[in-house]
Amino acid sequence: MPKILLVILLLAPFMAWDAAVYVMRMAGDTSTERRSEILRHFNESDIAVGREHVIRHNRLFPFSRLLFYAFYAALLFGGLGARLESWLLAPTGGHWYLALPLFVLVLLAVQMLIYMPLSAYREFVIEREMGLSTITLGTWLADRAKSLVLNWIIVTVVALPVLALIKGLPNFWPLPATAVILAVSAFGIWISPWVIDPLFNKFTLLEDEELEGRIRQVSAEAGLKLKQVYMMDASRRSRYLNAYFTGLGNSRRVVLFDNLVAECRDDEVLSVVAHELGHWREHHIMKGFLLEVVGVFASLWLLWALLNVEATRGFFGLSAQSSLVLFVLLPFLLSLAGTLTSPAVSAISRRFERAADRAALELTGDVPAFIEVEKKLVRKAKADLLHPKLLYRFYGSHPLAEERIRMAENFAVGDKSLPHPEN
Ligand SMILES: [Zn+2]
Repeated sequence: MPKILLVILLLAPFMAWDAAVYVMRMAGDTSTERRSEILRHFNESDIAVGREHVIRHNRLFPFSRLLFYAFYAALLFGGLGARLESWLLAPTGGHWYLALPLFVLVLLAVQMLIYMPLSAYREFVIEREMGLSTITLGTWLADRAKSLVLNWIIVTVVALPVLALIKGLPNFWPLPATAVILAVSAFGIWISPWVIDPLFNKFTLLEDEELEGRIRQVSAEAGLKLKQVYMMDASRRSRYLNAYFTGLGNSRRVVLFDNLVAECRDDEVLSVVAHELGHWREHHIMKGFLLEVVGVFASLWLLWALLNVEATRGFFGLSAQSSLVLFVLLPFLLSLAGTLTSPAVSAISRRFERAADRAALELTGDVPAFIEVEKKLVRKAKADLLHPKLLYRFYGSHPLAEERIRMAENFAVGDKSLPHPEN
């Protein structure tokens, strides 16, 4: 079979799915039942704003998918990846460890440049007109430059030992490579609050002593000795409200967006923080890490099996298992595989989120604050309330707003069980 036909056969199902996603998002959920459930807590204007927001973003979706396919098809099937490899190996005297960092830099830079117009349109037209973005052009450009350098360092630090393992242990590399990737990832999470996060934001200690005291109290109830509570200048970029839990060991901390503290009452902030502490109490970080171990190993093992066949190597434009083009193939296959595994991954994520929600309610016992802040999060993010159910099952990382509110209402009347996963 000619190669072009095989490429079409491989990509067509994914493109068809993209088209279906586009159509479903545009249409939204049209069931009247769903709408009336939503209208118990929100109004028609909340629904309309959320719809407008998602439709405007969705218009760019086909372009971003086409760029994705074009970028990887040119490199893998069009032979550009192999050409770039030999072109970079020549001036570096054939030393792969010198050519690899350059190869990675060119790929990341080109990828950033081709997506830049779309990303600028999203930020400066859609998000700005929706009243959500506050970023300046200077900050935006600086973010791009810093991310490029950072990604370059991270990918290179992972790729160098992985390629050395492929060369040294051609029949055995997925196992040690998994260990390398997870070690770098754990190290990254540990140093991130000290080294990486401050590159993008300013972090200050939360000055509101009363709020800080209440946060400490709740975290003690969750069984966590909290060292510091930080506030981040998120308002420099957007108006979104959030809080997150980050770090590992002695770098562990709770970070509040300054927007959250400015826009929410203390009991509402506490409810958001309690949700984050719920993730900690339920060991979601450790469970997530174990799932990552399985995911990384399975991906690398599949890649190894695939690349052991000469015909597949030829199809993807790799001269050998250890070809630099591997670092084009890997993100491409991971992205396609991500579409296939997304329903399972999202279902696990929603399970974790439900457990964290319940923990938040148990820790604070404050049902009204939970419901109020849930509504605020949706309104401030101008989130789509009529998100199609099928897409939600496929990609939804969090339960739907009306589901979270219903769970809190049930909690208030004494039903402490988690709702049925998908009702
Ligand atoms: Zn969560």
